[in-house]
Amino acid sequence: MALPFTIQAQAGSARQACIHTAHGPVGTPAFMPVGTSGTVKAVSQDILEELGAQIILGNTYHLYLRPGHELVRKLGGLHKFMSWERALLTDSGGFQVFSLSELRKVKEEGVSFRSHLDGTSHLFTPERSMEIQIALGADIVMAFDECTEHPAERERARESMEMTLRWAKRSKDYFEAHKHEVPWGDWGIGTSEHRDIGSSEELDNPACSAENSGNLPTTPALFGIVQGGMYADLRRESAERTVELDFPGYAIGGLSVGESREKTMEMIAAVLEILPKDKPRYVMGVGYPEEIVQYAAMGVDMMDCVLPTRAARHGLLFTSEGRINIKNARYAQDQGPADPKCSCRVCARYTRAYLRHLFVSAEPLAGVLNTVHNLAFYLDTMRSVRHAITLGDLSGILSGGVSLT
Ligand SMILES: [Zn+2]
Repeated sequence: MALPFTIQAQAGSARQACIHTAHGPVGTPAFMPVGTSGTVKAVSQDILEELGAQIILGNTYHLYLRPGHELVRKLGGLHKFMSWERALLTDSGGFQVFSLSELRKVKEEGVSFRSHLDGTSHLFTPERSMEIQIALGADIVMAFDECTEHPAERERARESMEMTLRWAKRSKDYFEAHKHEVPWGDWGIGTSEHRDIGSSEELDNPACSAENSGNLPTTPALFGIVQGGMYADLRRESAERTVELDFPGYAIGGLSVGESREKTMEMIAAVLEILPKDKPRYVMGVGYPEEIVQYAAMGVDMMDCVLPTRAARHGLLFTSEGRINIKNARYAQDQGPADPKCSCRVCARYTRAYLRHLFVSAEPLAGVLNTVHNLAFYLDTMRSVRHAITLGDLSGILSGGVSLT
């Protein structure tokens, strides 16, 4: 099987499951920290492991431009290059081309663009995106899609959706012919000493471990992406036709692009009705802590967002008492931890007063400590959600905001 996915508990529409990748298990619903250029900004890999991150995301656009996918392939793939032995997902590069590059031109063949780093010309096609992601060696590869801009007229959203469907087919054809070319070698595969998924994770999710995985995949898995703008009927059609192409998992893209939260929910709900229940379902680029809890309750299995890491570097901390802006003068003499209910290494050791001092002094350590806490908050939130699903009841988490167990 391309990507074993075992559902272990359900509560309403929410599922607690395990995705078994070649690089270890991923308990879901999962929040995936974003490691744009082969690093989750400001946090080292050993701390990500300590926080219980079982999968992180890499950005194809950034890694293609620098250091280049051929170099990463030569060095044994992204897992080995960045010394990350757990699961990796790479995006298709499509979203970054649309949001970062200059002078981009979309044609049937693909997207030509100029690098935001040095102005050089490049072309991303579905085939090229697959080639790059296979060279990077991700466990989960994303089909090349067009992220429809917002707002978009209905006709424009339909054309874009049709293009994404044609590109999905081309992505799959190339991927199936080349997926065995991942540079995994033996590194990090089946080496059980590297499979320690963290004691806290084992306690609340004992069944999601390498021992329960059966046959582990020997190649990456390709996910299809649903588009369709902010039109529920187009979203449903996109979902139906993407499912016809038969992927081992499905993502919902093109959300969180400026639409209202209600609209995001409406689009997700429309698509979830159609996506198969026995495969992982991934909403890309969301969201605030209360949103990811809500989406998990709706039946979403995977989410990623730069919010906890980016906000941390701007001094915004997510806590069980709400969001706090650590640079605020009111914290200058605050002897309490960032979050009294958090057990992360930052909250165990440092005061708000010290975190504020670091931030207003522009010390590099400010970004590190703030990021570690925010990621701990997001990952603990998802751990609480998984725990609640195994108990069969998400109402406490949904009604009382996010409480940490
Ligand atoms: Zn903390």
